[in-house]
Amino acid sequence: VIDAGQPEHSVVTTCAYCGVGCQFKAEMKGSEVIRMVPYKGGQANHGHSCVKGRFAFGYATHEDRITQPMVRDSIDQPWKEVSWDEALNFAATKLRGIQDKYGRESIGGITSSRCTNEETYLVQKLIRAAFGNNNTDTCARVCHSPTGYGLKTTLGESAGTQTFDSVMYTDTVLVIGANPTDAHPVFGSLLKKRLRQGAKLIVADPRRIDLVKSPHVQTQHHLTLRPGSNVAFINAMAHVIMSEGLEDKAFIAERCETEAFNAWRSFISEERHSPENTEAITGIPAAELRSAARIYANAKNAAIYYGLGVTEHSQGSSMVMGIANLALATGNIGREGVGVNPLRGQNNVQGSCDMGSFPHELPGYQHVSDDAVRARFESVWGVKLDDEPGLRIPNMFDAALDGTYKGMYCQGEDIAQSDPNTNHVQAALRSLECLVVQDIFLNETAKFAHVFLPGSSFLEKDGTFTNAERRINRVRKVMPPLAGMQDWEVTQALSNAMGYPMNYSHPSAIMDEIAQLTPTFTNVSYERLDELGSIQWPCNDAAPEGTPIMHLESFPIGKGHFAITEYVATEERSTRKYPLLLTTGRILSQYNVGAQTRRTDNQIWHDEDVLELHPQDAEDRGLKDGDWVGVTSRAGETVMRTKISDRMQPGVVYTTFHHPDSGANVVTTDNSDWATNCPEYKVTAVQAVKVTEP
Ligand code: SF4
Repeated sequence: VIDAGQPEHSVVTTCAYCGVGCQFKAEMKGSEVIRMVPYKGGQANHGHSCVKGRFAFGYATHEDRITQPMVRDSIDQPWKEVSWDEALNFAATKLRGIQDKYGRESIGGITSSRCTNEETYLVQKLIRAAFGNNNTDTCARVCHSPTGYGLKTTLGESAGTQTFDSVMYTDTVLVIGANPTDAHPVFGSLLKKRLRQGAKLIVADPRRIDLVKSPHVQTQHHLTLRPGSNVAFINAMAHVIMSEGLEDKAFIAERCETEAFNAWRSFISEERHSPENTEAITGIPAAELRSAARIYANAKNAAIYYGLGVTEHSQGSSMVMGIANLALATGNIGREGVGVNPLRGQNNVQGSCDMGSFPHELPGYQHVSDDAVRARFESVWGVKLDDEPGLRIPNMFDAALDGTYKGMYCQGEDIAQSDPNTNHVQAALRSLECLVVQDIFLNETAKFAHVFLPGSSFLEKDGTFTNAERRINRVRKVMPPLAGMQDWEVTQALSNAMGYPMNYSHPSAIMDEIAQLTPTFTNVSYERLDELGSIQWPCNDAAPEGTPIMHLESFPIGKGHFAITEYVATEERSTRKYPLLLTTGRILSQYNVGAQTRRTDNQIWHDEDVLELHPQDAEDRGLKDGDWVGVTSRAGETVMRTKISDRMQPGVVYTTFHHPDSGANVVTTDNSDWATNCPEYKVTAVQAVKVTEP
């Protein structure tokens, strides 16, 4: 530990890693951050933090930071450093030239869940108002888009229902496809506190996560389901509850649509959904599943927490709706200690969805086909807006390969590394005539770019992030942007270069416009955020102080809507050629593709991705701990070391995706969720074979 001495001043800001949204005091000497001290007034973290937020901030001033704009005519050429004006005019001329040649729909862009609400709002506005189409999407496409679809369909709002603190009122916690102690550590600690007080725990996960073996935690069940069988599992849970009369009849009668409930009851009561009849699909012993369903249904307060192990499947949206069905059937909605709680991955994944990044929705989840909604935006933005949904990210790749999509603006997202089926993504990027990348590092995607616009880290900007509990937190600039511009200023300048004027003086003015156009943000402003510390949306005349717990007396759609969730097997199943099922996840010290954490001291804790596999699968392949193994799927091949682990069930292997060298996404396929195209990262049929060192 290096003693950095006494700070000269400090600034309260918000962590830029995960969706917990911890606040810190950045302690400064001049313009240098010497310490990040967890902030006791942080309303999501109450003075707690994890190793990433506290120590892994050195990437902001890492020598790899690019601080000069760069351009090139083709990706075979070396980069040429230019002024901001030159780079922005180069990008604007190229993008307009593409539209002149191939049409208005031939360009688009991607917003980032790493960036602020205000930056994200501006990018989608640039695309809609300056590009003149709805070809905007966000990296939430590849993580929680099924949450948006599934919760909006069933509960009427695309967001989780509770505060984190609500878990302290929970009697039974059902964790599905999430690993909170690694991926959401500050919430994971709070959850463990409640479990140590005696709350019951049920975990549904193919892999034994740390929560299951935590000291003093009474895990009632670890249901080791087979990857890809989520919907069969949740339907079986509901079948037990309905067939044994454990449902909350009063809640259903008062709060839920009768017709949809009756249809769902008939569906879920069919014997084919029983634990006994689905055991061969899920791999969960029927008696264990029955016991888990009874524990969940009989709890006074039961809460469900879920993560990407739910959403990143070909049936991600069905599973989210299945989870909501379960909560509705047992009346576990609308008070402390219950609810449906998606654990959002990135710092601002909730916000990027709220801000209108999706191709079919303007800010506040207002559909582009709604004439009245468009008219309001058109009057403020001063342009005519397209009423047709635009391209989703996977459609952009396909259109690029078809030759109809030729230009893209990509802010703060390394799609060449993070999206599935890397070979397909790279071929699509290579075919673009103009790719504009805005990032703090020359990332993998920049290899295919024609314009590089230097981004700014969270320490160099003002704005807001919205965490997994819908909490809007302030992000405050603690040092000047290294490249001279904050990200929102770059987007604004690009818009001006393209001929659509933007003239914001500060992100607070952008928030004022968001509040004007977004009914759930009506009473949000920087003044109120500074006064209240944070605000959980909806915050409007009906809820002037914000909304910690949603759906107290009614749903935005009136009554809760039960959805039919038919189980459909994924195309990814084990075969003789690919006998193992690969699933992926994260570890505590690293974050996603590692662009940030790999450039900090966190690197020393985990310097490579490894393939975890069951001892029997290792023995069958003559593998010892640390051996090199070639991992092959129908999409591609990669090489990594092995880690033999009894966390795994036989036939299932696991890896992380923090390092570009191992390229886990080379093997993941482009299967995706039926409703939202969220990729099926969590199930890939693979073979693993011992190889010599690469
Ligand atoms: Fe940052 Fe998440 Fe860790 Fe909090 S739990 S410090 S938000 S990474």
